[in-house]
Amino acid sequence: MGARVPEHRHETDVRCHECGILLARIRDGGLCIRRGDLQTTVTGEFQASIVCYRPRCRALTVLRLTRDRGTNNPKA
Ligand SMILES: [Zn+2]
Repeated sequence: MGARVPEHRHETDVRCHECGILLARIRDGGLCIRRGDLQTTVTGEFQASIVCYRPRCRALTVLRLTRDRGTNNPKA
C-alpha cells in the first residue's frame, strides 16, 4: 500500500471502502474484475454492487459507471 499508480495508463483501482483491498479496475471505461483464473470485463453504463471477498469484511461497494468521463459530471 502507498504506491502510486501512474495515471497515464488510464487505469483506476476500485477498492473496498472498508478495508481498502483491491476489488476491480476500471480500464478504458470498462470494469475489469480478475479473481484467479476468472476475468470479467464489463463495459457501457451500469451500476455494480461488489461485496468484499475478505471474510472479515464483506462490505458492499456500489460502483456506478457512465459514458461520461468521471462519476460526477455536473451539467454545464
Ligand atoms: Zn473489504
